[in-house]
Amino acid sequence: MKKKTAITTAVGVVLFAALIIFDAVQPRFYSSSFFSMNTYCSAEVESKNPEKNLAEIQDIVEKLDLEILSRSAENSVVYNLNKNGESVLDAETSEYFSLLADISKQSGGAFDFTLGAVSDLWGFGTEPSVPDKTVLDDALSHSGYEKVALSGNKITLGDKNAVVDFGASGKGIALDSIRSYLDTQKIKRSVISVGGSVLLYGKGDFTVGIRDPKGSPSSIASIKTESTCVSTSGNYERYFEADGKRYHHILNPETGYPVENGLVSVTVISESGLLSDALSTACFVLGIEEGTALAEHYGAKVIFITDKNIIYTDSETESMLSVIDQNYRLAETE
Ligand code: AMP
Ligand code: MG
Repeated sequence: MKKKTAITTAVGVVLFAALIIFDAVQPRFYSSSFFSMNTYCSAEVESKNPEKNLAEIQDIVEKLDLEILSRSAENSVVYNLNKNGESVLDAETSEYFSLLADISKQSGGAFDFTLGAVSDLWGFGTEPSVPDKTVLDDALSHSGYEKVALSGNKITLGDKNAVVDFGASGKGIALDSIRSYLDTQKIKRSVISVGGSVLLYGKGDFTVGIRDPKGSPSSIASIKTESTCVSTSGNYERYFEADGKRYHHILNPETGYPVENGLVSVTVISESGLLSDALSTACFVLGIEEGTALAEHYGAKVIFITDKNIIYTDSETESMLSVIDQNYRLAETE
Protein backbone atom coordinates (compact mmCIF):
# COMPACT_ATOMS: atom_id res chain seq x y z
CA MET A 1 0.00 0.00 0.00
CA LYS A 2 2.83 2.32 1.05
CA LYS A 3 4.72 1.47 -2.15
CA LYS A 4 1.66 2.34 -4.25
CA THR A 5 1.32 5.73 -2.53
CA ALA A 6 5.01 6.46 -3.14
CA ILE A 7 4.67 5.63 -6.85
CA THR A 8 1.53 7.78 -7.17
CA THR A 9 3.32 10.67 -5.46
CA ALA A 10 6.36 10.26 -7.71
CA VAL A 11 4.17 10.25 -10.84
CA GLY A 12 2.38 13.34 -9.54
CA VAL A 13 5.68 15.16 -8.97
CA VAL A 14 6.93 14.28 -12.44
CA LEU A 15 3.66 15.45 -14.06
CA PHE A 16 3.73 18.67 -12.04
CA ALA A 17 7.34 19.31 -13.05
CA ALA A 18 6.45 18.62 -16.69
CA LEU A 19 3.61 21.09 -16.47
CA ILE A 20 5.90 23.74 -14.99
CA ILE A 21 8.47 23.15 -17.74
CA PHE A 22 5.73 23.30 -20.41
CA ASP A 23 4.39 26.51 -18.96
CA ALA A 24 7.89 27.96 -18.75
CA VAL A 25 8.09 27.90 -22.57
CA GLN A 26 8.02 31.58 -23.39
CA PRO A 27 5.87 32.93 -26.22
CA ARG A 28 7.96 33.59 -29.29
CA PHE A 29 7.39 35.91 -32.21
CA TYR A 30 7.37 34.54 -35.75
CA SER A 31 6.20 35.85 -39.10
CA SER A 32 5.59 34.53 -42.58
CA SER A 33 3.97 35.54 -45.84
CA PHE A 34 2.12 33.67 -48.55
CA PHE A 35 -0.06 34.25 -51.61
CA SER A 36 -3.71 33.25 -51.44
CA MET A 37 -7.11 34.61 -52.55
CA ASN A 38 -5.30 36.33 -55.40
CA THR A 39 -3.46 38.59 -53.00
CA TYR A 40 -0.45 38.81 -50.71
CA CYS A 41 -0.99 37.72 -47.12
CA SER A 42 1.29 38.17 -44.16
CA ALA A 43 1.02 36.88 -40.63
CA GLU A 44 2.84 37.64 -37.39
CA VAL A 45 2.13 35.58 -34.31
CA GLU A 46 3.43 35.72 -30.74
CA SER A 47 2.66 32.41 -29.06
CA LYS A 48 4.32 29.30 -27.65
CA ASN A 49 4.22 27.54 -31.01
CA PRO A 50 4.03 30.25 -33.68
CA GLU A 51 5.25 28.02 -36.54
CA LYS A 52 2.27 25.69 -36.03
CA ASN A 53 -0.12 28.64 -35.71
CA LEU A 54 1.17 30.25 -38.91
CA ALA A 55 0.82 27.01 -40.88
CA GLU A 56 -2.75 26.65 -39.62
CA ILE A 57 -3.59 30.28 -40.46
CA GLN A 58 -2.41 29.73 -44.04
CA ASP A 59 -4.52 26.55 -44.23
CA ILE A 60 -7.60 28.47 -43.07
CA VAL A 61 -7.25 31.09 -45.81
CA GLU A 62 -6.55 28.53 -48.53
CA LYS A 63 -9.42 26.28 -47.45
CA LEU A 64 -11.88 29.18 -47.24
CA ASP A 65 -10.93 30.20 -50.77
CA LEU A 66 -10.95 26.71 -52.30
CA GLU A 67 -14.11 25.49 -50.62
CA ILE A 68 -16.27 28.61 -50.48
CA LEU A 69 -15.19 31.92 -52.00
CA SER A 70 -13.13 31.25 -55.11
CA ARG A 71 -14.76 31.92 -58.47
CA SER A 72 -12.32 29.68 -60.29
CA ALA A 73 -11.79 26.67 -58.00
CA GLU A 74 -14.15 23.96 -59.19
CA ASN A 75 -16.30 22.72 -56.32
CA SER A 76 -16.22 25.97 -54.36
CA VAL A 77 -19.65 27.19 -53.26
CA VAL A 78 -19.35 30.36 -55.35
CA TYR A 79 -18.12 28.44 -58.42
CA ASN A 80 -21.13 26.10 -58.25
CA LEU A 81 -23.55 28.92 -57.54
CA ASN A 82 -22.35 30.81 -60.61
CA LYS A 83 -22.47 27.63 -62.70
CA ASN A 84 -25.84 26.23 -61.60
CA GLY A 85 -27.66 29.36 -60.48
CA GLU A 86 -28.40 27.88 -57.08
CA SER A 87 -26.69 26.33 -54.10
CA VAL A 88 -27.35 24.96 -50.63
CA LEU A 89 -25.30 26.81 -48.03
CA ASP A 90 -24.02 25.94 -44.59
CA ALA A 91 -25.05 28.26 -41.76
CA GLU A 92 -21.85 30.33 -41.86
CA THR A 93 -21.86 30.92 -45.63
CA SER A 94 -25.54 31.74 -45.46
CA GLU A 95 -24.69 34.43 -42.91
CA TYR A 96 -22.02 35.94 -45.20
CA PHE A 97 -24.56 36.20 -47.99
CA SER A 98 -27.27 37.75 -45.87
CA LEU A 99 -24.86 40.35 -44.48
CA LEU A 100 -23.62 41.18 -48.00
CA ALA A 101 -27.22 41.46 -49.20
CA ASP A 102 -27.93 43.79 -46.30
CA ILE A 103 -24.90 45.99 -47.13
CA SER A 104 -25.98 46.04 -50.79
CA LYS A 105 -29.45 47.19 -49.74
CA GLN A 106 -28.27 49.71 -47.14
CA SER A 107 -25.84 51.20 -49.66
CA GLY A 108 -28.64 51.60 -52.22
CA GLY A 109 -26.85 49.16 -54.52
CA ALA A 110 -23.48 50.98 -54.44
CA PHE A 111 -22.12 47.73 -53.03
CA ASP A 112 -23.04 44.88 -55.34
CA PHE A 113 -21.60 41.37 -54.96
CA THR A 114 -22.96 40.24 -58.38
CA LEU A 115 -20.65 42.38 -60.53
CA GLY A 116 -18.31 39.49 -61.43
CA ALA A 117 -19.11 39.53 -65.17
CA VAL A 118 -18.66 43.30 -65.31
CA SER A 119 -15.30 43.16 -63.47
CA ASP A 120 -14.14 40.39 -65.83
CA LEU A 121 -14.71 42.61 -68.86
CA TRP A 122 -12.20 45.10 -67.48
CA GLY A 123 -9.69 42.27 -67.04
CA PHE A 124 -8.04 43.64 -63.88
CA GLY A 125 -5.34 41.19 -62.88
CA THR A 126 -5.38 39.50 -66.30
CA GLU A 127 -5.33 41.50 -69.54
CA PRO A 128 -6.83 44.88 -68.75
CA SER A 129 -8.59 46.94 -71.41
CA VAL A 130 -11.55 49.32 -71.70
CA PRO A 131 -14.55 47.13 -72.60
CA ASP A 132 -16.95 47.80 -75.43
CA LYS A 133 -19.86 49.86 -74.06
CA THR A 134 -22.59 47.61 -75.52
CA VAL A 135 -20.99 44.49 -74.06
CA LEU A 136 -20.52 46.27 -70.72
CA ASP A 137 -24.16 47.40 -70.62
CA ASP A 138 -25.31 43.88 -71.38
CA ALA A 139 -23.21 42.39 -68.53
CA LEU A 140 -24.52 45.12 -66.24
CA SER A 141 -28.13 44.31 -67.12
CA HIS A 142 -27.58 40.76 -65.84
CA SER A 143 -26.05 41.83 -62.53
CA GLY A 144 -27.82 43.23 -59.48
CA TYR A 145 -27.83 42.04 -55.86
CA GLU A 146 -31.65 42.16 -55.79
CA LYS A 147 -31.67 39.21 -58.21
CA VAL A 148 -30.18 37.00 -55.49
CA ALA A 149 -32.78 35.22 -53.34
CA LEU A 150 -31.87 33.71 -49.99
CA SER A 151 -34.37 31.38 -48.43
CA GLY A 152 -33.26 29.42 -45.39
CA ASN A 153 -30.06 27.69 -46.46
CA LYS A 154 -30.86 27.94 -50.17
CA ILE A 155 -29.54 30.65 -52.47
CA THR A 156 -30.78 31.26 -56.01
CA LEU A 157 -29.55 33.62 -58.73
CA GLY A 158 -32.57 35.11 -60.50
CA ASP A 159 -30.49 35.69 -63.65
CA LYS A 160 -28.29 32.87 -64.89
CA ASN A 161 -25.78 35.40 -66.24
CA ALA A 162 -25.29 37.15 -62.90
CA VAL A 163 -21.85 36.36 -61.46
CA VAL A 164 -21.33 36.40 -57.70
CA ASP A 165 -17.94 37.79 -56.67
CA PHE A 166 -16.51 38.04 -53.14
CA GLY A 167 -13.65 40.26 -54.33
CA ALA A 168 -14.76 43.10 -52.07
CA SER A 169 -15.38 41.07 -48.91
CA GLY A 170 -13.48 37.75 -49.00
CA LYS A 171 -10.34 39.16 -47.39
CA GLY A 172 -12.35 40.36 -44.42
CA ILE A 173 -14.20 37.04 -44.14
CA ALA A 174 -10.79 35.35 -43.99
CA LEU A 175 -9.86 37.59 -41.04
CA ASP A 176 -13.05 36.58 -39.19
CA SER A 177 -12.23 32.89 -39.73
CA ILE A 178 -8.66 33.46 -38.52
CA ARG A 179 -9.90 35.28 -35.42
CA SER A 180 -12.20 32.34 -34.54
CA TYR A 181 -9.15 30.06 -34.80
CA LEU A 182 -6.91 32.38 -32.73
CA ASP A 183 -9.59 32.39 -30.01
CA THR A 184 -9.09 28.64 -29.60
CA GLN A 185 -5.29 29.00 -29.24
CA LYS A 186 -3.13 30.61 -26.59
CA ILE A 187 -2.05 33.53 -28.73
CA LYS A 188 -0.56 36.58 -27.09
CA ARG A 189 -0.61 38.90 -30.06
CA SER A 190 -1.07 38.53 -33.77
CA VAL A 191 -1.24 40.78 -36.82
CA ILE A 192 -2.60 39.22 -40.00
CA SER A 193 -3.05 40.93 -43.35
CA VAL A 194 -4.92 39.52 -46.29
CA GLY A 195 -4.46 42.05 -49.10
CA GLY A 196 -5.62 45.42 -47.82
CA SER A 197 -7.41 43.98 -44.77
CA VAL A 198 -5.67 43.62 -41.42
CA LEU A 199 -6.63 41.81 -38.21
CA LEU A 200 -5.03 43.19 -35.05
CA TYR A 201 -5.41 40.55 -32.35
CA GLY A 202 -4.49 40.54 -28.67
CA LYS A 203 -4.24 42.87 -25.70
CA GLY A 204 -2.92 46.42 -25.77
CA ASP A 205 -2.59 48.99 -28.51
CA PHE A 206 -1.59 48.43 -32.12
CA THR A 207 -0.40 50.90 -34.73
CA VAL A 208 -1.38 50.29 -38.31
CA GLY A 209 -0.39 52.40 -41.31
CA ILE A 210 -2.54 53.77 -44.14
CA ARG A 211 -0.68 53.13 -47.37
CA ASP A 212 0.38 55.95 -49.63
CA PRO A 213 -2.37 56.09 -52.29
CA LYS A 214 0.29 57.20 -54.77
CA GLY A 215 1.83 53.75 -54.53
CA SER A 216 5.05 54.29 -52.53
CA PRO A 217 5.64 51.57 -49.91
CA SER A 218 5.45 54.05 -47.03
CA SER A 219 2.45 54.99 -44.90
CA ILE A 220 0.98 58.47 -45.12
CA ALA A 221 -0.76 58.18 -41.74
CA SER A 222 -1.03 55.75 -38.85
CA ILE A 223 -3.96 54.60 -36.75
CA LYS A 224 -3.59 53.68 -33.08
CA THR A 225 -6.21 51.17 -32.02
CA GLU A 226 -7.01 48.21 -29.82
CA SER A 227 -7.73 44.76 -31.30
CA THR A 228 -9.95 45.19 -34.40
CA CYS A 229 -10.02 44.84 -38.21
CA VAL A 230 -8.86 47.59 -40.57
CA SER A 231 -9.47 47.46 -44.34
CA THR A 232 -8.43 49.88 -47.04
CA SER A 233 -9.85 50.10 -50.56
CA GLY A 234 -7.81 52.16 -52.97
CA ASN A 235 -7.80 53.08 -56.64
CA TYR A 236 -4.06 52.26 -56.68
CA GLU A 237 -4.50 48.54 -55.93
CA ARG A 238 -5.55 47.26 -59.35
CA TYR A 239 -5.56 49.67 -62.27
CA PHE A 240 -4.30 50.28 -65.78
CA GLU A 241 -3.83 53.32 -67.95
CA ALA A 242 -5.21 53.75 -71.46
CA ASP A 243 -5.21 56.94 -73.57
CA GLY A 244 -3.75 58.85 -70.62
CA LYS A 245 -6.63 57.88 -68.32
CA ARG A 246 -6.48 55.68 -65.25
CA TYR A 247 -9.06 52.89 -64.87
CA HIS A 248 -9.26 51.17 -61.47
CA HIS A 249 -11.07 48.16 -60.06
CA ILE A 250 -13.77 49.69 -57.85
CA LEU A 251 -16.82 49.97 -60.07
CA ASN A 252 -19.94 52.07 -60.01
CA PRO A 253 -22.74 49.48 -60.31
CA GLU A 254 -24.94 52.05 -62.07
CA THR A 255 -22.57 52.49 -65.01
CA GLY A 256 -20.13 49.57 -64.86
CA TYR A 257 -17.23 52.09 -65.03
CA PRO A 258 -14.63 52.79 -62.33
CA VAL A 259 -15.85 55.18 -59.63
CA GLU A 260 -14.69 58.74 -60.21
CA ASN A 261 -15.61 60.83 -57.20
CA GLY A 262 -12.29 62.35 -56.17
CA LEU A 263 -11.51 59.61 -53.62
CA VAL A 264 -8.26 57.67 -53.79
CA SER A 265 -8.52 55.56 -50.65
CA VAL A 266 -11.05 54.61 -47.99
CA THR A 267 -10.19 52.88 -44.71
CA VAL A 268 -12.81 51.27 -42.47
CA ILE A 269 -12.27 50.09 -38.88
CA SER A 270 -14.68 47.48 -37.53
CA GLU A 271 -14.52 44.49 -35.20
CA SER A 272 -15.99 42.43 -38.05
CA GLY A 273 -13.53 41.62 -40.84
CA LEU A 274 -16.38 41.18 -43.31
CA LEU A 275 -17.82 44.59 -42.44
CA SER A 276 -14.47 46.38 -42.58
CA ASP A 277 -13.71 44.92 -46.03
CA ALA A 278 -17.16 45.24 -47.61
CA LEU A 279 -17.72 48.72 -46.17
CA SER A 280 -14.37 50.05 -47.38
CA THR A 281 -15.45 49.19 -50.93
CA ALA A 282 -19.04 50.40 -50.39
CA CYS A 283 -17.92 53.72 -48.84
CA PHE A 284 -15.48 54.25 -51.72
CA VAL A 285 -18.39 53.99 -54.17
CA LEU A 286 -20.74 56.13 -52.08
CA GLY A 287 -18.35 59.02 -51.38
CA ILE A 288 -17.82 60.97 -48.17
CA GLU A 289 -21.33 61.99 -47.14
CA GLU A 290 -23.28 58.82 -47.83
CA GLY A 291 -20.30 56.61 -46.98
CA THR A 292 -20.07 58.20 -43.53
CA ALA A 293 -23.77 57.47 -42.93
CA LEU A 294 -23.37 53.86 -44.08
CA ALA A 295 -20.36 53.21 -41.82
CA GLU A 296 -22.25 54.77 -38.91
CA HIS A 297 -25.20 52.46 -39.56
CA TYR A 298 -22.90 49.47 -38.97
CA GLY A 299 -21.03 51.04 -36.03
CA ALA A 300 -17.82 51.26 -38.08
CA LYS A 301 -15.26 54.08 -38.35
CA VAL A 302 -14.24 55.45 -41.75
CA ILE A 303 -11.37 57.54 -43.12
CA PHE A 304 -11.54 59.00 -46.63
CA ILE A 305 -8.56 60.35 -48.60
CA THR A 306 -9.13 62.52 -51.66
CA ASP A 307 -7.01 63.16 -54.74
CA LYS A 308 -6.34 66.62 -53.22
CA ASN A 309 -4.51 64.84 -50.32
CA ILE A 310 -7.20 65.74 -47.80
CA ILE A 311 -8.20 63.29 -45.08
CA TYR A 312 -11.84 63.27 -43.97
CA THR A 313 -13.02 61.52 -40.81
CA ASP A 314 -15.04 62.18 -37.64
CA SER A 315 -13.46 63.68 -34.53
CA GLU A 316 -13.36 60.38 -32.60
CA THR A 317 -11.47 58.60 -35.39
CA GLU A 318 -9.28 61.68 -35.87
CA SER A 319 -8.01 61.23 -32.29
CA MET A 320 -6.69 57.77 -33.31
CA LEU A 321 -4.90 59.15 -36.39
CA SER A 322 -1.41 60.60 -36.85
CA VAL A 323 -0.54 62.11 -40.20
CA ILE A 324 2.98 61.06 -41.18
CA ASP A 325 3.33 62.48 -44.68
CA GLN A 326 3.09 66.26 -44.51
CA ASN A 327 1.74 66.40 -48.07
CA TYR A 328 -1.53 65.19 -46.56
CA ARG A 329 -3.72 67.14 -44.17
CA LEU A 330 -6.86 66.60 -42.16
CA ALA A 331 -9.96 68.43 -43.35
CA GLU A 332 -11.21 71.17 -41.03
CA THR A 333 -14.01 69.76 -38.86
CA GLU A 334 -17.04 71.96 -38.17
P1 AMP B 1 -11.68 45.93 -52.40
O1 AMP B 1 -10.25 45.84 -52.79
O2 AMP B 1 -12.02 45.22 -51.14
O3 AMP B 1 -12.21 47.32 -52.39
O4 AMP B 1 -12.52 45.14 -53.49
C1 AMP B 1 -12.49 45.47 -54.84
C2 AMP B 1 -13.02 44.29 -55.63
O5 AMP B 1 -14.43 44.17 -55.39
C3 AMP B 1 -12.90 44.47 -57.13
O6 AMP B 1 -11.67 43.97 -57.59
C4 AMP B 1 -14.10 43.68 -57.64
O7 AMP B 1 -13.81 42.31 -57.65
C5 AMP B 1 -15.15 43.93 -56.58
N1 AMP B 1 -15.99 45.14 -56.81
C6 AMP B 1 -15.75 46.21 -57.62
N2 AMP B 1 -16.71 47.14 -57.51
C7 AMP B 1 -17.59 46.65 -56.60
C8 AMP B 1 -18.81 47.14 -56.04
N3 AMP B 1 -19.33 48.33 -56.40
N4 AMP B 1 -19.45 46.37 -55.12
C9 AMP B 1 -18.94 45.17 -54.74
N5 AMP B 1 -17.82 44.65 -55.23
C10 AMP B 1 -17.13 45.37 -56.14
MG1 MG C 1 -13.33 45.60 -49.64
